[in-house]
Amino acid sequence: MHTAESIEEVRRFAAAARQRGQSIGLVPTMGALHAGHLSLIAAAQSACDVVVVSIFVNPTQFGPQEDLKAYPRPKEDDLGRCRELGVDLVFHPPVPEIYASRSLTWVTVDELTEPLCGQRRPGHFRGVTTVCTKLFNIVQPDKAFFGQKDAQQSLVIRRMVADLNMPLEIVVCPTQRETDGLALSSRNAYLSPEERQQAPILYESLQACRDRIRAGERDCRVLEGRLYADLERASLARVDYAAVLDAENLRPMAWACGQLLLAAAVCLDSARLIDNIVVDVPD
Ligand code: AMP
Repeated sequence: MHTAESIEEVRRFAAAARQRGQSIGLVPTMGALHAGHLSLIAAAQSACDVVVVSIFVNPTQFGPQEDLKAYPRPKEDDLGRCRELGVDLVFHPPVPEIYASRSLTWVTVDELTEPLCGQRRPGHFRGVTTVCTKLFNIVQPDKAFFGQKDAQQSLVIRRMVADLNMPLEIVVCPTQRETDGLALSSRNAYLSPEERQQAPILYESLQACRDRIRAGERDCRVLEGRLYADLERASLARVDYAAVLDAENLRPMAWACGQLLLAAAVCLDSARLIDNIVVDVPD
């Protein structure tokens, strides 16, 4: 496995792969790799000749009150996992390699970034879209792999790539979960035993919402209200949002039809957790 800290090394590696006629898959991550990340790597390996994993805790997507400093950075473990999996290149740049000087240029996506996490985390998606643009420009992958766990992020990146005619395909992979349903996340490591015990309520509540739709409920305000109430049953959680939206454009709907995104975020003392389910509403 190759590792690189500099843009120059990555460009050289990728150019050589392209010259050999090999396709390149990119898996952008912030490290603290878990089985969710590993599923993206496996998907990239089955679709591309060469797989590049980036590990970069991107400061511009964290708000001033967020956990940038505390975010886990188990570099040696991450490199070991990538090596075991047969990743071709890990790009783990230091911050100044990506943000060399005071940047005046940002990539922003309108509308899709406004609801859900966009409302709670101002500037977050601007950081994500800007760093992904940089990574796409550096690696120039044929495909980049993202997780459905971060549904809004995947939608935003897809839209950015389409709107800016970026020459790559975005592949979105299913959410990987613990056996009790909790979506895998690097932030799960922050949870106290009591919080960990309550955390599955997120997925349970989303599933209950899906079951109500299957049982015939179509009023989205009713669905959201019940979802909110279910989440509130977790005594240690504060509900950040509970939303039933059009899965394509993240707009609110009065009456459920087509494809819906059921999305929720809760704040526990130690971590903020998000999850979602996509539901096809029967006609
Ligand atoms: P992160 O390191 O949290 O920025 O995540 C890197 C990528 O892994 C993103 O595309 C995430 O959506 C994806 N990811 C994170 N958790 C999961 C999960 N539980 N299942 C599938 N993909 C995930």
